Amino acid sequence: MAKQYDIVIIGAGPAGLAAGLYAGRARMSTLIIEKAKDGGQIVQTAEIENYPGSLEEESGPTLVARFAAQAAKFGCEKVIDTVQEVDLEGPVKKIVCGKETYEAKAVIIASGASPALIGCPGEAEFTGKGVSYCATCDAAFFEDFEVFVVGGGDAAVEEAMYLTKFARKVTIIHRRNELRAAKSIQEKAFKNDKLEFMWDTVVKELKGDGILSSMVVENVKTGEQTEIVADEDDGIFGVFVFIGFKPATAVFEGKVDMERGYIVTDQEMRTNVPGVYAAGDCRVKELRQVVTAAADGAIAAWQAARYVDEME
Ligand SMILES: Cc1cc2nc3c(=O)[nH]c(=O)nc-3n(C[C@H](O)[C@H](O)[C@H](O)COP(=O)(O)OP(=O)(O)OC[C@H]3O[C@@H](n4cnc5c(N)ncnc54)[C@H](O)[C@@H]3O)c2cc1C
Repeated sequence: MAKQYDIVIIGAGPAGLAAGLYAGRARMSTLIIEKAKDGGQIVQTAEIENYPGSLEEESGPTLVARFAAQAAKFGCEKVIDTVQEVDLEGPVKKIVCGKETYEAKAVIIASGASPALIGCPGEAEFTGKGVSYCATCDAAFFEDFEVFVVGGGDAAVEEAMYLTKFARKVTIIHRRNELRAAKSIQEKAFKNDKLEFMWDTVVKELKGDGILSSMVVENVKTGEQTEIVADEDDGIFGVFVFIGFKPATAVFEGKVDMERGYIVTDQEMRTNVPGVYAAGDCRVKELRQVVTAAADGAIAAWQAARYVDEME
């Protein structure tokens, strides 16, 4: 027989762990199902400066370790398993995982998202050491340094303009000879004195000694490769990658309403299916950060607990 819970939470990133804390404190029997390890995307970053209360030397892993301990303290259980299928209709929701099947009165989807990668040598090694996927998170670390932005769509150009408030110079590296961003965004970008463009170019390799200090780029038309080396006084430059962002929601397709793969919720994190909530980066919203994921998780759990109480 399937194990039964009041609330099952899918994903142990900041949204899922915050939901676990709030559900546990509401005296709900609660299970978090996580396919990898605690923490979600933020475990990739060695420094997080913008989570309220994280004044110094806070890393992604240390922050989410406290999230996880706090959820466990209030009785929230956790398993490592991958959710493969869900049946969300009716009063008993079924969550089928690789190893086991669970049943719940309410489900919180907190499965997150992930940025698309360049896929070149050095990218993983220098993530958080020069390579970033989030300007809001990391722009301040590049105050007065040189920065490169990879991509040519709306997000890349908007984030590049944001980065010009911090960096000495920002160069957009784009594989085509024109931007894909909306014309209104392009007009603003072309007027920005701190912004330069490297057309028809792709990044082939990211290099350095512990920290990113050079990269090999290739002109896709001529095949010519060039090595860009950090200014001697700087010793480092930043590479911000904005070539797409993918929500981890394939399992929920056709089960809840979505827009471009992101789950649609109201401001109380309710999806269109009674008893099913979504929180964090997997839902339609603008600011995808730890603080907003945690807030979503708290709201979703509070609403889910209310829903479960009202069923009884
Ligand atoms: C490199 C990097 C640096 C960042 N820096 C900052 C920063 O400085 N400040 C900041 O506020 N934000 C930062 N962010 C953004 C922040 O990490 C995210 O906004 C936040 O983690 C979103 O939390 P989440 O819980 O919604 O999703 P996620 O963190 O994506 O967690 C989702 C979890 O769900 C699990 N999961 C997915 N599908 C399934 C499934 N089918 N079955 C079981 N488990 C599943 C995943 O394994 C994952 O652990 C950064 C992101 C990256 C990539």
